[in-house]
Amino acid sequence: MKRLIEEAEQFLMNTYQRMPVLFQKGRGTRLYSTEGKEYIDFVGGIASLPLGHCHPKVVVAIQKQAQRLIHVSNLYYTEPQIRLARLLVQHSFADKVFLCNSGAEANEAAIKLARKYSKEKYGPHRYEIITALNSFHGRTMATITATGQQKVKDGFEPLLPGFRHVRYNDIEALRDAIDDSVCAIMLEPIQGEGGVVVPSREYMQEVRRICADRDILLIFDEVQTGVGRTGTLFAYEQFGIEPDIMTLAKGLGGGFPIGATLAREHVAEAFTVGSHASTFGGNPLACAAAVATLETVLEDGILLYECKRKGEYLKSGLEQLKERYSSVVVDVRGMGLMLGMQLSRECAPVVKACLERGILINCTAGHTLRFTPPLIITEDEMEILLNTLDDLLGRLS
Ligand SMILES: *Cc1c(COP(=O)(O)O)cnc(C)c1O
Repeated sequence: MKRLIEEAEQFLMNTYQRMPVLFQKGRGTRLYSTEGKEYIDFVGGIASLPLGHCHPKVVVAIQKQAQRLIHVSNLYYTEPQIRLARLLVQHSFADKVFLCNSGAEANEAAIKLARKYSKEKYGPHRYEIITALNSFHGRTMATITATGQQKVKDGFEPLLPGFRHVRYNDIEALRDAIDDSVCAIMLEPIQGEGGVVVPSREYMQEVRRICADRDILLIFDEVQTGVGRTGTLFAYEQFGIEPDIMTLAKGLGGGFPIGATLAREHVAEAFTVGSHASTFGGNPLACAAAVATLETVLEDGILLYECKRKGEYLKSGLEQLKERYSSVVVDVRGMGLMLGMQLSRECAPVVKACLERGILINCTAGHTLRFTPPLIITEDEMEILLNTLDDLLGRLS
């Protein structure tokens, strides 16, 4: 293992701060390192494994599809792509789907679609997109521009023109930023990388109203919140509103890379033949994995209900820890199985101590411990996490 980790340092660009562990195998909520140690996974590939590691339905779908056809390009039709698009449309607000390979790529398509729709309808001046401070939308040039965090932009200037940032969950700030050049407002229903920040229902409903009044497109970046994470298939359902465009990735392929941009018919019409493309977008293997994932999430009648219930269980456990260790724990936030615990200090030592005790959690926005386990996590496993945190926080306070 040591030699492999040395080779990683030698051959891979140094873009990630990795933990000193090499994983070989995963099953459900558990991961196994090369040293044979077992871990309970509360990271879930960063909210990318709604069904856990190597779910049998996803594995079989990938195996079968790999034997049949892996890639042909979008010059031709393939069945898994059509089945996936149909499933997404049947179970969301959307009428049309564009398929791609990642969250950033899905957001790029959303940005391009919003600009094209609005410029064609209202003229060339209408291209500004408002996003939130503290947001995260990806690492390509357009999506780091959209992202409301300076740290992802440093060193990559000049960025794209046409983006404005406003405070999240602040309706007046949003109103002040709107003028006739604004074509879209792009928001995460819950800010993930920003530290698991949940806006109010009133705010989201008011944003929807403002957008509807002025034909400004509401883009929801559900790359992290989508596919059951918050206890409904999509997080927008929890706010009682629907966006005009939505992006998905992370959990969509059950661990296999895939992204999607969904839109209402009249918006999607702005994309015509040649407007946009992606060589591997809608790849049969990725789509087969996504169809298996979505079908399993939808067919399992209690998975989403259980996600809500288990989320409430874990959240109340975390809130009890907040009461007990009020000097260390500042806040507990989140919805379903997308939860965060903000500390009054760096959380890296807690993450490391958990790793040593066989529990994977991660840290977002510097001071927030994040929990995004597979939706099949059990109460016993959450109890182990809570007991471990109880002990670690006790030592810190
Ligand atoms: C992870 C994430 C992205 C970027 O997705 P990639 O697949 O890494 O490009 C975009 N938006 C949100 C909300 C995310 O959580």
